[in-house]
This record gives sequence, structure tokens and C-alpha cells, in this order.
Amino acid sequence: MAGICVRFAPSPTGLLHVGNARIALVNWLFAKAAGGTFALRLDDTDVERSDPRFATAIERDLAWLGLAWDTRIRQSERLADYRAALERLKDAGRVYACFETADELEFKRKKALRAGRPPIYDRAALKLSAIEREALIAEGRRPHWRFKLDEGAITWDDAVRGPQRFEGGNLSDPVVVREDGAFLYMLPSVVDDVALGVSHVIRGEDHVVNTAVQIRMFEALGARAPAFAHLPLLMDAKGANLSKRLGSLSLESLRESGIEPMAVNSLLARLGTADAIAPVSSLATLVEGFELGRFGRASPRFDPDELSRLNARLLHAMTFAEAGPRLAALGLASADERFWRAVRSNLERFSEAKVWHDACFGDVPPPSAEMREFLRVAAGALPPEPWAEDTWGAWSRSVGAATGRKGAQLFRPLRLALTGREHGPEMKVLLPLIGRARAEKRLGAA
Ligand code: GLU
Repeated sequence: MAGICVRFAPSPTGLLHVGNARIALVNWLFAKAAGGTFALRLDDTDVERSDPRFATAIERDLAWLGLAWDTRIRQSERLADYRAALERLKDAGRVYACFETADELEFKRKKALRAGRPPIYDRAALKLSAIEREALIAEGRRPHWRFKLDEGAITWDDAVRGPQRFEGGNLSDPVVVREDGAFLYMLPSVVDDVALGVSHVIRGEDHVVNTAVQIRMFEALGARAPAFAHLPLLMDAKGANLSKRLGSLSLESLRESGIEPMAVNSLLARLGTADAIAPVSSLATLVEGFELGRFGRASPRFDPDELSRLNARLLHAMTFAEAGPRLAALGLASADERFWRAVRSNLERFSEAKVWHDACFGDVPPPSAEMREFLRVAAGALPPEPWAEDTWGAWSRSVGAATGRKGAQLFRPLRLALTGREHGPEMKVLLPLIGRARAEKRLGAA
């Protein structure tokens, strides 16, 4: 499939959250599955609300997810192209000057609603004569500019929603340039999609009406409209809009809470499809099975607990080849493959490996005084090294025989003294890691 190009177009006005990440991921997977390109477009024409710090954060979050972009553009650097397109549309009579104030527009809107009419802009500005327009400008009024929509049906076959149809006459001519000269979202997006050769626009269903308008803009610019796919927005576990929880569901806070990027990708790639959600360790695997057509129209529920469970399952299956460098980066000097295999199934977050590293190789709290006698006997029964997985069974049996303890009475104090914790990985795998010298010391004998 040559010529496939998609884009992810966040506005740098806040942090990316799981909903944005889903759109980015689906675009990226679609591009990779088709051998196409993935562009990052920063929609930063709104100078007041855009912040370069958010642009940096967006790039960091995408890099964290592994969603590398082939091209990146910033709308703030493309104003000359938008002005050129605007002039063309003005010359073609497709963009016209309007002088209504916000209050006047609000008044018209209310009046239409009271009369039971849809609140569509009445195109009064189109009826102004050249003399009237000049008089308004002489008065000091500055125009804002609207795109003139054609009457008639606007249709497309949405890759997620199926056939879509809007009546041009039922839509308001959108404002494309504000009174202060700033471009609003609608037209620059189309100009950029044409310039980048975007073949598929994949975005949230909150843009469906924009698509009807933008299809007319592609036509007016003499360009072919891309294919469109609108994904339903995510809901929270109770079925409400996710927007209230967005702070805690930002990629930044997920990362800081120790969630693995592939846990996010694994969940978001399958949410809203009929495919089972499972931990997938690489984006390449997600690309292999990717089909846009598998996404349904119903709003999927995003459950943070499901994300945590996937996160744990990813860690439990993580190979030492992958974990090793990260263990080293955490400064866990003794974390070899045996250690990793012993502890990984007890992790919910990767950083917890440190807890078990300490339990094996670090300092643990001394046992309580009332256990001293029991632990002295246990230490005396420690066999000579080398130790293997059967050491624990043989040793604990002999300690049981020597002290008359069994079950929790036997195992609990041994585990607590040896690891400093009441629960954790199996003692048969921990004991050889702890080794005889440390075990003796921890049992209070050394
Ligand atoms: N900046 C727009 C948004 O974040 C982009 C929409 C689009 O994909 O065209 O909603």
C-alpha cells in the first residue's frame, strides 16, 4: 500500500492522556501495518493556550510509548501556507468577511432557538455591500472570516462508523480566522493534511462534524479528501466520560506510577475491538495483528485496574534480556538472571525488584527476641553450600524435626528472619540467592 500517511495532531495545551494515546497508537499501528508514514503535527496556532513545555511533554510521552514519528510539523511554523490558502479561498469567494460581535452572534443564536430553528449562522455578512463593509472597517471593526459551505449532502464511508451523511445546509459556515487574525483549527488542519499527503485521518468521534466541514475545504482547495475513521471516545469504568479523571490518566502520571509503556499499548491496541486483551511485549507484535476494521462503534471502558493487571502480567513474562539492563540501571548489582526469574512473578511494578534485591542481598531487620532460640537451632541446621532449589525443603524439614514446629509456625519465622518480609517469592528460590553466610547472619547466629 504505497502512499499511506497518517498523522497524530495533539494541541500542546496539556498533557497527553490515555484517550490521546489511543488515537496516537492506532494511527501509528495503522501506518506501520501498511508500510506508511506517521507524522506528528503539533496544533499550536492558539498562542495563548499552547505551551512549548507541553509540546516537549507530548514528544517525551510518545517516545516513551515507542511511537516514533517519521515527520514532525508545528502549525505555528506554517502560517505562510495557511495565509496562502486563505487568500485562494477568498479569491474563489469561499471565505468571506463577517463583522458581528460575539454578543450579536449570541443574540442571533438565541433568537433562532426561540423560533425553533437550528442555530445556524444566517450569512448576514454575505449580504453586506462593498460600501457597507468599508463603512464598518472605517468604524474600526475588524472582520473575522468564515468558510462558505456548499448546500447539499456531504458523505463519506467512515472506516469505523460506516456510511456518514451530513447536509451542508444544516451546518454553520465555520469561522476560519478570528478578528485578531489568528487561524482557528479547521482550515490549517486541512492545509496540512494536503501538504503532508495524509491518506487517512484517524481521530476521535468528537471530530465527526468537523470532518463534514473539512471535506468541503479539501474540495474547495482542489484536493482529494483523505479517508476518515472516527474512534469512539473512552469512558471510565462506570460508563462516564473520562475527562474528569484525565489528570491521573495522563501518560506522565502512569509512567511515574511505574506502568510499563507496553502495558498501555497492549491495552489501548485492543480496547474497543473483539480481540482479547493480553500482555504483548512488543509493538512489532501489535503491528502484525493490526486491522482498523476491528474497532467498533461502541465506547470502550478504560479500567485502570485492568492496566495494572496487564502491567504485572508483562513483568511476570519479561525475559532477563529485557530486564537485565533495567535492573542494572536501578543499581541492583547482584540482580542476575537467577534473581530475575526468582522474583519477577511477584512484581506489580518493575521498581519493586529493589525490594527483593534488598531481601536477598541487602540488610534486613533483625529477628525479634522471642524467636532467637528457634532461629539459633535453625542456623545450626544449615547445610554446607552449594545450595540449590531442594535445599530449603531439606533444611526446613530438619528444622521442623529438631524444634517440633510445623506449617506456619515453622515457615513464617524462617521467612521473616531470612527476607525481612512475611510474603514473597518462594523460599526455595530465594534461599540459594541469599546464600549461607547471609542466612546465618540473618538467623542471628553470625
Ligand atoms: N488538534 C486537534 C485535536 O487535538 C486535532 C484533530 C485532528 O486530528 O484533526 O483534537
